[in-house]
Amino acid sequence: MKYGYPPLIIPVFLPAMGCREHCLFCNQKASVGNLPSPVSVRSFIEASLPAFPSERKEGEKQIAFYGGSFTAIHRDDQVRYLKEVQPFLAAGLIDSIRISTRPDALGEETLSLLKEYGVKTVEVGVQSMIDEVLFLARRGHSVADTVDAVSRLKDKDFEVGLQLMIGLPGDTLDRFIQTLDRVIELKPDFLRIHPTLVLKGAPLEDLWKAGEYSSMPLNEAIQWLKKGILKLEKSSIRVARIGLQPTNELKRDYLAGPYHPALHQLVDSAIFFDMATSLLQRVPKNGQALFFCHPREASNLRGQRNENILKLKKDFNLSEILIEERKELPKGFLGLRTQKGEVSVERRFLFH
Ligand code: SF4
Repeated sequence: MKYGYPPLIIPVFLPAMGCREHCLFCNQKASVGNLPSPVSVRSFIEASLPAFPSERKEGEKQIAFYGGSFTAIHRDDQVRYLKEVQPFLAAGLIDSIRISTRPDALGEETLSLLKEYGVKTVEVGVQSMIDEVLFLARRGHSVADTVDAVSRLKDKDFEVGLQLMIGLPGDTLDRFIQTLDRVIELKPDFLRIHPTLVLKGAPLEDLWKAGEYSSMPLNEAIQWLKKGILKLEKSSIRVARIGLQPTNELKRDYLAGPYHPALHQLVDSAIFFDMATSLLQRVPKNGQALFFCHPREASNLRGQRNENILKLKKDFNLSEILIEERKELPKGFLGLRTQKGEVSVERRFLFH
């Protein structure tokens, strides 16, 4: 990550622009007709720039064209939008551009255009590396399209982010793990992973209403994501986000599915629950347990509303669980004091 900080992003949403397909899970078609004009994009950027926090001057500043498939819209429109950003790049107010798009809309000519106009980061909607899942999700592209697009993006030195989904029709935990294996081979710079939600206006709504699709329970999503995150940590691919941003649109359109505004934190808490369990299984209990960890991991160990502590007490018949915060410990580490000394576990060794 350049500058050692996550980028500061001004997001410009171009809903469903360029979408040839109507993907099963997506309700963005509902927004067509409200596309911003290139000129309004410039005003939006001007209005957004002062909001960049001054104490993060060293963070890379990006304009992101999110929403539909940027590179699938007409070439002239891509150029119009990209041109609006050029004065900000030239003045040093913005460092680079990021776009999101589909794997089958990244031909050689398109990549040259993106380079020419200062696009640095390309986020690709991969969703799954299983062709049957892509077909059932009506994506209109194949796994081979993704492999081809990512390798060409990397050849041209773009920063590559991939978006994956869990819980689409035909998806299984095994298929999700296979997807991660294939994605790790592609060596992207970062990933986003979103559970499938049923949204008003998406074709999936009809399947769900007809009883032909059941959304994944939140607990199951956490278990899948826990396995996935631990696997990815071994590969050192950064996970930029888990779960959709809590927006007003999401609040308005959400019908069903494993949504939680702090999903990543729930997954980390589930990982710490497993770590604590593995330690408690290794030592004789005497009614009390004293764990130690980095101060920033204490909340992961406790879990939301102290859930981990309550469950560990019940599972191991403990009257009290104490947590000692030790600044010198690395993150991802958990120790337990025993009568004979101390035992510990690191989250990076948890996946098998
Ligand atoms: S998921 Fe992306 S490609 Fe599919 S309809 Fe929505 S915006 Fe278009």
